[in-house]
Amino acid sequence: MSGFPFIEVSGDYYDIGFQIGSRFKKQFKKALSFNFKALKNSSKDIDYFIDLSSKDLVFTKKYFPHLINEIKGMADGSGVDSDLLWLLNDEDILLDSVTKCTTIVSRRNDNIFLYHNEDFYSDFIDNMYVFKVNLNNKIKILGLNYAGLILGSSTSLNSFGLIQCINSVYHNSFKRGIPKNIISRAVMESKSLNEAVRIISNKNSGSGYNHVLVKDNKIFDVESIGSDSKVFDIRSSSYLHTNHYLYSKFDKDAENIPSSVSRYDNALSLLKYSMPLDHGKIISVLSSHDGSGTICRHRSRKLPESTIASIIVDSNNLKLYLSKGYRCRSRIYDGYSM
Ligand SMILES: [Zn+2]
Repeated sequence: MSGFPFIEVSGDYYDIGFQIGSRFKKQFKKALSFNFKALKNSSKDIDYFIDLSSKDLVFTKKYFPHLINEIKGMADGSGVDSDLLWLLNDEDILLDSVTKCTTIVSRRNDNIFLYHNEDFYSDFIDNMYVFKVNLNNKIKILGLNYAGLILGSSTSLNSFGLIQCINSVYHNSFKRGIPKNIISRAVMESKSLNEAVRIISNKNSGSGYNHVLVKDNKIFDVESIGSDSKVFDIRSSSYLHTNHYLYSKFDKDAENIPSSVSRYDNALSLLKYSMPLDHGKIISVLSSHDGSGTICRHRSRKLPESTIASIIVDSNNLKLYLSKGYRCRSRIYDGYSM
């Protein structure tokens, strides 16, 4: 068992949102209360933030009205206020920088394997779930997700064979526009890498993620910063990303995230030392606590974030393997098929 609850739903956008919201009411409420704690340190009240996020709703309605329906379904199913749930999904408005996640992609035996440490506040270890969605009998999406956020907030696969893994990246050029969580959700309906890149490059995008994308034996890494994005076509046998921009133009505008840089440097040197890579060596790198940039992260007084999920994706077979908690203690991975 992966340790995460599993839900399988089908229907239209509203239906799938409603069923997920109904099942995870308690977790949705926890996500809201956690995120709104940030308000306690603010001189502004909740109406100010709701008003701010309503501006982003206008941009989203133009491009992704169906995804607003999905969030409406999530709100109705969970019984939480739809304005508050929209604000939660407009993640940059409330949430402080969290330096989460390390991703390694590896080519082996004509296959591509994706390895991901999902790092977040350790309180959220019981707020994630595994989903399998059949949307309008047209597309299936499988993945791990945070309760309260629209699908696509961690690692997901679709029935066209596209895999997406998200890394948070931090920058100073936020503008009002489509929230990054909506962009990553929309990507999960792409039939091709180029379609995914078009979605990420939307000129009305408000912030940015790093999107590691795999399809048809190709790896794209797309860093986005508002309406600007950079595509890396990865031909090397392995690739690594943490939580800072690798594209120098974007990095100049980014917040300095020393913990991400040290984690990246540490992982990169371990990967080089471990060549040629195999499954065990990559797991060993992701489980490492050596040096200043610890890669597997354990909760401590100094470090509120920890590794809450360990993920492996086999791209040829569209299989997702998951284990709850610290990577160094993950021994058995539960497998999910499309
Ligand atoms: Zn560990």
